[in-house]
Amino acid sequence: MLRSKLKPFFGLFLFAVTTAAVAQNGRFQQAVDYKMDVQMDVKTNRYTGIQKLVYTNNSPDTLDRVFYHLYYNAFQPGSMMDVRSRTIADPDKRVADRISKLAPDEIGYLHAKTLTMNGKPVNFKEVETILEVSLPEPILPNTSVTFDMEFEGQVPVQIRRSGRDSEEGVRYSMSQWYPKMANYDEQGWHSNPYIGREFYGIWGNYEVKITIDKSYVIGGTGYLQNPNEIGHGYQDEGVKVPAPKGNTLTWHFVAPQVHDFMWGADNKYQHDKVKMDNGITVHHFFIPGPKTSENWEKLKEYTPKAISYLSEHFGQYPYKQFSVVQGGDGGMEYAMSTLITGERSLASLVGVMVHELAHSWYHGVLASNESLYPWMDEGFTSYASSLTMANIFQESASPHRGSYGGYYRLVSSGLEEPMSTHSDHYHTNRAYSSAAYSKGAVFMAQLGYVIGEEARDRGILRYFNTWKFKHPNVNDLVRIMEKESGLELDWYKEYFVYTTKTIDYGIKEVKANGGNTEITLERIGLMPMPVDLVITYKDGSQESIYLPLVIMRGEKPQEKGQPTRIHTEAWPWTNLSKTLILTKPLETIKSVEIDPTKRMADVQQENNLVKF
Ligand SMILES: [Zn+2]
Repeated sequence: MLRSKLKPFFGLFLFAVTTAAVAQNGRFQQAVDYKMDVQMDVKTNRYTGIQKLVYTNNSPDTLDRVFYHLYYNAFQPGSMMDVRSRTIADPDKRVADRISKLAPDEIGYLHAKTLTMNGKPVNFKEVETILEVSLPEPILPNTSVTFDMEFEGQVPVQIRRSGRDSEEGVRYSMSQWYPKMANYDEQGWHSNPYIGREFYGIWGNYEVKITIDKSYVIGGTGYLQNPNEIGHGYQDEGVKVPAPKGNTLTWHFVAPQVHDFMWGADNKYQHDKVKMDNGITVHHFFIPGPKTSENWEKLKEYTPKAISYLSEHFGQYPYKQFSVVQGGDGGMEYAMSTLITGERSLASLVGVMVHELAHSWYHGVLASNESLYPWMDEGFTSYASSLTMANIFQESASPHRGSYGGYYRLVSSGLEEPMSTHSDHYHTNRAYSSAAYSKGAVFMAQLGYVIGEEARDRGILRYFNTWKFKHPNVNDLVRIMEKESGLELDWYKEYFVYTTKTIDYGIKEVKANGGNTEITLERIGLMPMPVDLVITYKDGSQESIYLPLVIMRGEKPQEKGQPTRIHTEAWPWTNLSKTLILTKPLETIKSVEIDPTKRMADVQQENNLVKF
């Protein structure tokens, strides 16, 4: 771990009120404004740039060091990413040992050549993917400084997320390409070396100028400021674009309130624009051909549909543009855009677009620290994209069955680690991905069982509207759900996020007791949960008995479309069994079942149903 020597806050007299406010919740956000001017050489695949970064320290701390990410340095033999990718028990096939075999003209690099703060030279040291910077004078709380940097880079051959000359022939997938200030928050610096996993950026305004061979088309983050000079499908209708004077074009983009900037570039891209009724413009960039053209033409219908559905159910998409760009090695989310591979079946193409688009809500706008809470990004994105796909394709089957299945397989693999594990530090790729994607989605789907779907759905919108552009953590989410439901949920977070304890309830016995029926339930799993017990009678009618946990301090309301609740009785988690008396004769009962909706992630469901 890198150390950060922080001086105690000394503006005590001037900022007494501020400190009191800060001391109470400790939350603040740093701010960045980037201006970059980049020259790309498409023959050498190298680029140079200048970067002016206005950095605002909104923390109560005095900073005497800062850290930049230099992600491209990961693509060099012997890097931490190389070693990690080769030595992990279950390597990612896209990476495996490929980094170790890169020749000097195939590696990636990103170097700072010069760096000043407020015009004064600073000391900086490149430690692989992190630039450690000692400041000539400290940055005081509530002040801004300006860093000026000259940098140079080489685009690695496409291995993971970014690079050149992808398998599908896309020349440049430019993500993680510029020196990027690491985030500093109430938990300190987050200068994680890049080993191929997650990201955490700072909100800010980007102004980026890219000079590149005039035959190239660029798509990605940001609004193009000079469309009528550039053309390539960006120009306003009817505009005659003048021929460029030299061999290059300089593309001028601005992107307000984003925490990253990606661009894809190719001289074969087809660029399609779709204007939605709500003013959002959707851009698609792909290399035309027999494996792409037909499906990408159809995609133009689905991307706007998905934006509309997600905006209605998960919060309004806040930008005026979204770009789907062919590139990368699968699908990856970026601000206002995504890079996806393009030679896919229509279902797969729509599926990956929807998933990466849904990230705009959780990666793009809520932007929890993905390293610490990968499941709050990937899991909730999977949850949202499953619902979006079910809506678009009018599927009736349970949209989250894949997520539940992934979680159950993780449990039975014996490889599960708690969801609170830092994403870089999971022991296996499998444990990371099943926790982040599957269990994270189950967290949200199952929450509908715990507090009721209506409260959960209201909570999802309230969470977005309360925490957009603020980097929420798990407590922030759970507090919103507590407020929306009126129930205490700390136990749900503690068990499901911080442990690998699992849920298993069972029906131990159903027997006649006089003219009544006696039902005994048992808790076998270590994680307690509220129980919905449904009784189906021989006449086909159904009723339910609801057993909330005492520690919830309340109950979820009767859910629409679920059997009428005839009895509610809290079950203390300390008690391993619970006996209920149902005032109906045993002969009238067809079956007794725990949670027929299967929203509770019970890892052993054979004991959930008793039939007569
Ligand atoms: Zn994802």
